[in-house]
Amino acid sequence: MSSLQVTRGTRDIIAPEIYYWQQLEATARQILSQAAYTEIRTPIFESTELFARGIGEATDIVGKEMYTFTDRGDRSLTLRPEGTAGAARSFVENKLFAQGGVQRLWYMGAMFRYERPQAGRQRQFHQLGVEVLGSADPRADAEAIAIASDFLQAVGLKDLVVDLNSVGSAEDRVSYRQALVDYFTPFIAELDTDSRDRLTRNPLRILDSKDKRTQEISQEAPSILDYLSPESQQHFEKVQALLTDLNIAYRINPRLVRGLDYYTRTAFEIQSNLLGAQSAVCGGGRYDRLIAELGGADTPAVGWAIGLERLVILMQQVAIQKRSQVDFYIVSRGEKAEAKSLSIAQIFRKAGFSAELDLSGAKFDKQFKRASNAKAAVVIGDSEIESGQIQIKWLGTGEQEAIAIADLSDSFEALRQKL
Ligand code: ATP
Ligand code: MG
Repeated sequence: MSSLQVTRGTRDIIAPEIYYWQQLEATARQILSQAAYTEIRTPIFESTELFARGIGEATDIVGKEMYTFTDRGDRSLTLRPEGTAGAARSFVENKLFAQGGVQRLWYMGAMFRYERPQAGRQRQFHQLGVEVLGSADPRADAEAIAIASDFLQAVGLKDLVVDLNSVGSAEDRVSYRQALVDYFTPFIAELDTDSRDRLTRNPLRILDSKDKRTQEISQEAPSILDYLSPESQQHFEKVQALLTDLNIAYRINPRLVRGLDYYTRTAFEIQSNLLGAQSAVCGGGRYDRLIAELGGADTPAVGWAIGLERLVILMQQVAIQKRSQVDFYIVSRGEKAEAKSLSIAQIFRKAGFSAELDLSGAKFDKQFKRASNAKAAVVIGDSEIESGQIQIKWLGTGEQEAIAIADLSDSFEALRQKL
């Protein structure tokens, strides 16, 4: 019988990689709560219409990457390809705007896109994202970028660059769109198939093409920055001044357009030179039109999403964390000792230590080998049980001490000092 394997484009996350995930998750919670962000958990599947409306029909995501299916009740549902549409729907549906002020939300979870799998590009992947709803202030844009940068630095990444652009307002883009159509039309035969299609539907997206020849042609395309209204221009300049103030390195990239239709003004990506073709680890921007598009009141907003698989690839390259250590590894041999070993492990855990219980029943030396990841081994043999004592062997120093089982809780403070 052939063995079963994970589905193409998905993968298991197992040790030691899982330790990087746990580290980034803990760091995210800490950094985001320090900045007064609240977690939001939205469903993994939603109505297809939410994504069609919220992301835009002419985007790659909606056009060809969604996992869409009909359920038994004949509803068209889609596995979420990103987190913003769901968070925005929830903001409207739960009337979070009624609370007034600015809502700072964050989420973390699995996303699904039907793409060609390669390093850093999967069909099930994970994102950490934030959405700041209710402020048009350029400080909101700069703060969101600063938090992303804080987080990436806190998990150990260096040499990151923020690519920054403004895609203007919808009005600014009307004449820019025409300028792009005029520019690209003579090259139509040389564009990749998708971009030819985009020429009429969404010419901005041609700038986002991954095709080499199309990218070459795009180099000379008109710049959106020449089409910004004075208000958009001023907003862009303020964001830049704030980033400079914060000492965040950025470069202006007038060809940076986000894949999603609802973006306005600020667009940015955080790049790493270590990632090869999939160089973006974070993408985001302002989306002042989305909430109204989904039936809410006009609500300016800004957000970003970090691809966690790509982040973990980077973390592994700088190798910040290997594996987590347990405090005590509990070895036992002999019928009475084994019978008592689990309750002793539980006593250590309840006192706040981490403890791993060896279940093998193997010879002591074999069990000791597996203890190498712990700070100390707790040794329980039948003779120890008879004398009412356990042995603690500190693996760093080789020091050994005996502790009476009855007095265990009195010894915890002293043990804690030695960890
Ligand atoms: P790309 O241009 O690489 O396809 P994107 O513009 O589609 O990226 P976003 O929708 O902005 O990406 O998502 C934000 C981040 O999520 C990306 O910067 C990337 O790190 C990550 N990401 C997107 N798609 C995938 C995927 N299929 N597999 C793994 N990570 C992904
Ligand atoms: Mg993509």
